[in-house]
Amino acid sequence: MAAEEETSLLVVIIDVNPVWWGQRKLKDENDLSFSQCIDSLLIFINSHLMLHHLNKVAVIASHTNRSQFLYPTREPSPSSQDVDESRYQNIPRDGKYEHFAKVDDTVFKEVKQLITGQEEELHSDTLLAGSLAMALCYIHRLEKEAAAGEKLKPRVLVIKAADDSASQYMDFMNIIFTAQKQNIVIDACILDKESGLLQQACDITGGIYLKILQRTGLLQYLLWVFLPPVKTRSKLALPPAIHVDYRAACFCHRTLIDIGYVCSVCLSIFCTFSPICTTCHTAFKFRGPPMRAKKKKKITAVENVI
Ligand SMILES: [Zn+2]
Ligand SMILES: [Zn+2]
Repeated sequence: MAAEEETSLLVVIIDVNPVWWGQRKLKDENDLSFSQCIDSLLIFINSHLMLHHLNKVAVIASHTNRSQFLYPTREPSPSSQDVDESRYQNIPRDGKYEHFAKVDDTVFKEVKQLITGQEEELHSDTLLAGSLAMALCYIHRLEKEAAAGEKLKPRVLVIKAADDSASQYMDFMNIIFTAQKQNIVIDACILDKESGLLQQACDITGGIYLKILQRTGLLQYLLWVFLPPVKTRSKLALPPAIHVDYRAACFCHRTLIDIGYVCSVCLSIFCTFSPICTTCHTAFKFRGPPMRAKKKKKITAVENVI
């Protein structure tokens, strides 16, 4: 019928920060557990695959210091027949179609390996910027590999648990603007504290930002809010857009500031004056008396602080 078939590619980034998930269990037994979260995620991605036979999915786990693909895994190329073949076989196994079973099994296996993997130093923040960069690279690769006439509609959904990390601010902003340029929508489903970085990401790329009120209802939020494709969203009554906090966090104390100092080299933001930038180690040359530095500049101005 239509000459151009549209492939909807959904890349889900799931925050698997063990510190955050571990704390949930200690605080409240009835809270959403990690395995329930993975179950909800699997139902969600299976639903996405069910919507259209060309739909594709990828899942990336965001750990405290690395990012890893949960699906598809390395060996078979994502566009290889390995995946597509089984899609049409329609052989139920445990009541599930082969392709769904394959996705489920792969994700389960990879999550298990990731969680029970080598002991390492754990942090309370998640390497989200790295996972987003991985998602964008993957989308870019699939766009290049796409067959003639195949149109890829990519979007990214971040399921975020742990707090924002101010140290990733720069990378994060670069990723957001790259996504905007490539027309990639970033959606965010927030399980815990508000995320200023993701608010900006969703606002800039035209995605949905939603902090869920009840964690145990995660699956319902995923199915109702994040499953419909981007083009149908205008017809739905989705949660209203939130007020985006565009204030930047200072790199020294991670507090939100209205006015501050900007490094002219790396654009790091500081709430107090420092002669050396702590991010890029640039030493500012003083031409006049250093007292002039007391004059505060607006953070939006890209200027030297002296
Ligand atoms: Zn500060
Ligand atoms: Zn700097």
